Amino acid sequence: MEPPGAGGINSNECENVSSKKEMSEEFEANTMDYLVDLPFATVDIKDVCEITDVPEINLERSEENERNNKDQAKKRKKKQKDYQPNYFLSIPITNKEITEGIKILQNAIIQQDQRLAEAMSRDGSFHVTLLVMQLFSEDEVNVGIDALLELKPFVEEILQGKPLTLPFEGVDTFRNQVGFVKLAEGDHIKPLLEIADTAKRTFQEKGILTGENTTFKPHLTFMKLSKAPWLRKKGVKKIDPKIYEKFISHRFGEEMVHCIDLCSMLKKKQSNGSYHCESSIVIGDKNGGEPDDAELVRLSKRLVENAVLKAVQQYLEETQNKNKPGDGSSVKTEEADRNGTDSDNNRN
Ligand code: C5P
Repeated sequence: MEPPGAGGINSNECENVSSKKEMSEEFEANTMDYLVDLPFATVDIKDVCEITDVPEINLERSEENERNNKDQAKKRKKKQKDYQPNYFLSIPITNKEITEGIKILQNAIIQQDQRLAEAMSRDGSFHVTLLVMQLFSEDEVNVGIDALLELKPFVEEILQGKPLTLPFEGVDTFRNQVGFVKLAEGDHIKPLLEIADTAKRTFQEKGILTGENTTFKPHLTFMKLSKAPWLRKKGVKKIDPKIYEKFISHRFGEEMVHCIDLCSMLKKKQSNGSYHCESSIVIGDKNGGEPDDAELVRLSKRLVENAVLKAVQQYLEETQNKNKPGDGSSVKTEEADRNGTDSDNNRN
């Protein structure tokens, strides 16, 4: 991949540019390069997180006002940074007919403009984003995993035993910046929107910060210019609709949804190109709701982790109590242990 900023600026262009500006552009390009693979990398965070603009009042340009404006801008920037989503719920798209069709589309575009190769999504990472969210600590990721497991029966209720099949047809862009294959109209839209809505509610009820304000518009991204921000310097600022016009009503095929994954935007991708997945729920499985092997392994791993955590917490509590002089609680706990009356024991 071409390094950020390696867009070949000629000496004339550089003449009036100070080294400070070059440095800040390079920094910006590097930062963008880091963010390019994020789903929603170019999303307007203000929309996602309900950060509203300060209303424009006719302010006198006093020094104090300027200082205030700068402070507010700083605060807004900090808020935006703080609210950057780093996890998402993904429906992976794996049907070969669709992925091969997308590769043909990508190649047809690259044939017309070689530079756009760097803006293409990689095979293995094709997906439909259901929800974006913030999960920072390991604990928060565990809460996210719990929320995903809680989502499963709701999804089953929505689908009522019917498979969810997503047909993809035609191509469009978001603001000429993100190229995507469109989801065709049909009966699948209602349950899909319901699932996205229920997912948002389930995750929010667990206290997880999700993308609030964006209307869910299901799409299958195949390219985004933010993947190669240095292309701007080469004059590529927009995706010209002409370069995909032959595919404008192309049928790419249908994806039978088989799972919903909780994926990290930032962790290293897997060797097959797919996003790092923390947990997954199986949708419309053939075993009549029986968990598959992978799900069983994940569940038992979590059970063991929780048991170990509980044991450590109990041990810490007991040692703390023992160290408290004159506190009879340690005796109580030991007695309770002997009698098997500990509330956790009863629960298990
Ligand atoms: O990985 P994903 O397909 O979710 O990425 C889609 C891209 O499209 C994101 O970078 C996001 O900023 C953008 N997007 C958008 N408007 C929407 C939905 C997504 O610009 N309604």
